[in-house]
Amino acid sequence: MDKPPISLFIPSYVVEYAVVDSTVKYMNKKNLWAGDELVGVVPKLAISKDIETSEFRLSHCNEEWEDLCAVQSATTIEEIKEIAEKHYQGINKNWIRTNYNESDAIALIEAEKEAVKCSFCGRSPWDEEIGRMVINEKARICELCIKSYYSLIQKNY
Ligand SMILES: [Zn+2]
Repeated sequence: MDKPPISLFIPSYVVEYAVVDSTVKYMNKKNLWAGDELVGVVPKLAISKDIETSEFRLSHCNEEWEDLCAVQSATTIEEIKEIAEKHYQGINKNWIRTNYNESDAIALIEAEKEAVKCSFCGRSPWDEEIGRMVINEKARICELCIKSYYSLIQKNY
């Protein structure tokens, strides 16, 4: 599967992607680091748009679309493509639009918030500080709820 997922990091969506094929020359600039490891040639590149800052970011990805080093950003897509071209000469003709948009990214974020919210009060750790969560297969309960239910039980006995 060549097409990337909607988001490689939050809050953003992938605008365009490119596969590094035999027509592309890797320039080996030796200036991209993931932690203290040098990022070498990768099979896939992706350009994401951050929906908060409106910046574009270049992701150097492995086969599974995991971002190995998303440190390069720019205000326009043309600038980010220039950066990509410096690392991968000839990549410019390989960019493909994903047709994902901002509402796809927002829907994904909402779904992720929904998946981690407290089953009792509905608060999400994305939106506010709710402490630790106790989780089983059927429900999740936040620290605030545990504390309030605990004091309720203390009163009844
Ligand atoms: Zn709760």
